[in-house]
Amino acid sequence: MRIDLHTHSRASDGTQAPDELVHDAAAAGLDVVALTDHDTADGWDEAAEAAVATGVSLVRGMEISTRHSGGRGVHLLAYLPDPTYPPLVGELARILDGRDARVPVMLQKLQDCGIQIEAADMRRVAGATTATGRPHVADALVALGAVRDRDEAFAKYLSAGRPAYVDRYATPLDEMVEIVAGAGGVSVVAHPWGRHQRATLDEPAFAELAERGLAGIEVDHQDHDEEERRDLRAIARNLGLVATGSSGHHGTGKVGHELGCNTTDPDEFARLLDLAVASAARSGRPAPTLVNGR
Ligand SMILES: [Zn+2]
Ligand SMILES: [Zn+2]
Repeated sequence: MRIDLHTHSRASDGTQAPDELVHDAAAAGLDVVALTDHDTADGWDEAAEAAVATGVSLVRGMEISTRHSGGRGVHLLAYLPDPTYPPLVGELARILDGRDARVPVMLQKLQDCGIQIEAADMRRVAGATTATGRPHVADALVALGAVRDRDEAFAKYLSAGRPAYVDRYATPLDEMVEIVAGAGGVSVVAHPWGRHQRATLDEPAFAELAERGLAGIEVDHQDHDEEERRDLRAIARNLGLVATGSSGHHGTGKVGHELGCNTTDPDEFARLLDLAVASAARSGRPAPTLVNGR
């Protein structure tokens, strides 16, 4: 059984429509795929239809923008939360407002760098996404010929410390772990050491998050080398957390993250689902279901 628990569609910054993504997951030989767009559940229904059509099991999820102590951004994967749970709805709205408010400021800073970029350039590449982000600004820069690809756009202009970087709102990590649990879902810290965060997201930090209800750690991810994977797996084992493996696929938006390039062990996946059932029961919500669950 091949299980990939982290992918993006055009509902955020991937390049495939949600249904296209699920069809591609089936073609890639995946049995289970999770759709985890940034800060939105907008792709879920379309992906669910494609799951029914293809027979792939779909895990409805999202990747939420949070902030750890010290101000570092951390991505938190939330699986099977009730998307109508008011505290979750409220926080996602705040995060999305922050995303929208940031765009004009980034464009102004790029103009200050001498690049003729307008809001219309951004809209053309972003399409109907709910979660506008730096990857869309990067795509607009590529379309204008200002940079070769997204990576160069980030390295030259958009990463923290570069001239067009603008900070935005993100929910405190520990609060969001509790909100996801309240929504009857389970949370997994995405690529925790992918952005040089090994020092801040260490075992004591994970232990604290586990006490708040964290379910797992995304261990196998392209952002982690072999040693980091080994150490993260040991932390997960010590703390009783689930260890997942995923691609972080963005379509053609990110190279080296092909569907199924990392996968989650079926036993770990079964543990994650058991935790989701327990979380839903605790929060008084209906038991979560996969589309085509087996
Ligand atoms: Zn991420
Ligand atoms: Zn992601």
